[in-house]
Amino acid sequence: MTPDDLQTIVEEITAEMAQEHRRGKVADYIPTLASVSPTQFGMTIIDHEGKCYTAGDADTPFSIQSITKVFTLTMALGAVGDTLWSRVGREPSGSPFNSIVQLESEQGIPRNPFINSGAIIVADVLLANYEPREALGEFIRFMQMVTGDESIMIDEKVAKCEHDTGFRNLALGNYMRAFENIHNPVEETLGTYFHFCALSMSCRQLAMAGRYLMCGGRRHPNTTDTIISRQRTRRILALMMMCGHYDGSGEFAYRVGLPGKSGVGGGILAVAPGIASIAVWSPGLNDQGNSQLGMNALERLVQRTGWSVFRVD
Ligand code: GLU
Repeated sequence: MTPDDLQTIVEEITAEMAQEHRRGKVADYIPTLASVSPTQFGMTIIDHEGKCYTAGDADTPFSIQSITKVFTLTMALGAVGDTLWSRVGREPSGSPFNSIVQLESEQGIPRNPFINSGAIIVADVLLANYEPREALGEFIRFMQMVTGDESIMIDEKVAKCEHDTGFRNLALGNYMRAFENIHNPVEETLGTYFHFCALSMSCRQLAMAGRYLMCGGRRHPNTTDTIISRQRTRRILALMMMCGHYDGSGEFAYRVGLPGKSGVGGGILAVAPGIASIAVWSPGLNDQGNSQLGMNALERLVQRTGWSVFRVD
């Protein structure tokens, strides 16, 4: 496929998405998300040579929300290695992302790092030996490094809204604390988690950030700098495939067939290993909380490119 072909595909899909009438429902649990216009759609692909293909609202920043969980997991594995897995599991949950029920039978060990309880454990791990402000500084520096863009920032308004309405997340934190699986003061761990969720990025920046997952852990295609090992990259991609789309992870694997992670801000980061890092964004969500048009767009992309990891040719 030539670069011209890929740019044409991105533009065609973006034009097709503009015609879609079923656009899903924007997350409304906080006003900062509820007020985002559902008419927007953006898409960026970065290929294995580092070339960028983009269309629509690809440079509009949005709240990446749970997509951050991929990056904090990468940092936590870098910090504590496989000992992380004594505190969080690696199985799909089959329950809503903010569910508390499994924590009781599983002794305060969340099912995976991509549901809220699991990401709260990851935040707790990243807080070890740091003040919350320092841990957030490390996080921002990591995100700026993987994107190569120093303008990446946390949206403090979103962080405050998450905090003001985060009773359920606080309950998850306290419940896990009761099982001694939270090691810092719960308010500090949750404050850090809420700030992680509030990172703002555009599709272009998000696709840049996903390059290390496309290139076996190297920061980008044209460097030997390594963010994580090849083996860990492969394992993070496996988790994204199995657990990256809440209760819709099976449906995403079925329709798209790429490792991916979505967030309630309407973004999806998908990775075609060795081929491309892809970011799509449209704020309207389907019943499972995944971007309605984002999923449609990725489905069309794999149909036209054959990039599904389950390709049978
Ligand atoms: N900030 C959200 C929460 O913790 C995460 C939402 C998401 O899954 O994107 O409830």
